[in-house]
Amino acid sequence: MKKYRLPIIMLLVFEIVAVSLWLTKDNLFYLFNFSYIGISISLGMFLFIRKYKYARRIVQLLVGLYMLVYLGLICQENMQIEGFWYYLFTGVFEAATIHYAVAKIFGPLIFGRGWCGYACWTAMVLDFLPYKVPKEPRKKIGWIRYITFAASLIFVSALFLAKVGNIERIMFLAFIIGNIVYYGMGIALAYVFKDNRAFCKYVCPITVFLKPMSYYSVFRIKCDKEKCISCGKCKSVCPMNVDMTDNSRKRENGTECILCMECKRNCPKDALS
Ligand code: SF4
Ligand code: SF4
Ligand code: SF4
Repeated sequence: MKKYRLPIIMLLVFEIVAVSLWLTKDNLFYLFNFSYIGISISLGMFLFIRKYKYARRIVQLLVGLYMLVYLGLICQENMQIEGFWYYLFTGVFEAATIHYAVAKIFGPLIFGRGWCGYACWTAMVLDFLPYKVPKEPRKKIGWIRYITFAASLIFVSALFLAKVGNIERIMFLAFIIGNIVYYGMGIALAYVFKDNRAFCKYVCPITVFLKPMSYYSVFRIKCDKEKCISCGKCKSVCPMNVDMTDNSRKRENGTECILCMECKRNCPKDALS
């Protein structure tokens, strides 16, 4: 039982959040929503401990499809960054704002960019592409993310300043169009740069929140220098170009780690944890 401690703790944390929000906001949705996500993540961790190869992909599909299809398309909640700005401006602390607070702003202080490895519906599709490990060196064009971040903020601000009617409807359309653009751009960039995660590295506006917060993450890959033989296998399989053999917070591309555990899985000396 001891080795399953982490998935059990994770399930308990999500249940505490689920029950607290259900009772404080008097809305059964939160109980269902956070219980579902907690069960999905715990199941993935359980399968990972059992060394099941596709554990991460299963969680990614369970959570990603739920967010995209159920929350996004059926409940018509814009869960993209525009939705976050919209609900923030209207002062409504509802699904999108709670989702951003938990998964993308404060949560990364604990679980880093776990969102990017296990839940994001954009990466859920991109990870099916053929370049799981980048085939070309990383480019210095990460500044693009600040442009997309600013564009999303300007777009929603303009809707409010122009006092456009029926913004709810526009936000839903923005969610659909935004996702089509993200998928199209993500797939094109993956092929251009021979890197499934090129969109994540250079364009995704959410990384403006994720990167600084995950710098302080509690959960991070650590290298046991006593065991490490400097074979370089771990770095060669990392989709995000992280130097996980450096234990300092300033490790190369440290804020890019999506906790996919490919490095750990491939280390011949079990030096990573
Ligand atoms: S960087 Fe953006 S697109 Fe990539 S996984 Fe994270 S949130 Fe999703
Ligand atoms: S794969 Fe393991 S042994 Fe090889 S460099 Fe990485 S941590 Fe060290
Ligand atoms: S391979 Fe290791 S360092 Fe690279 S993203 Fe995955 S968990 Fe992080």
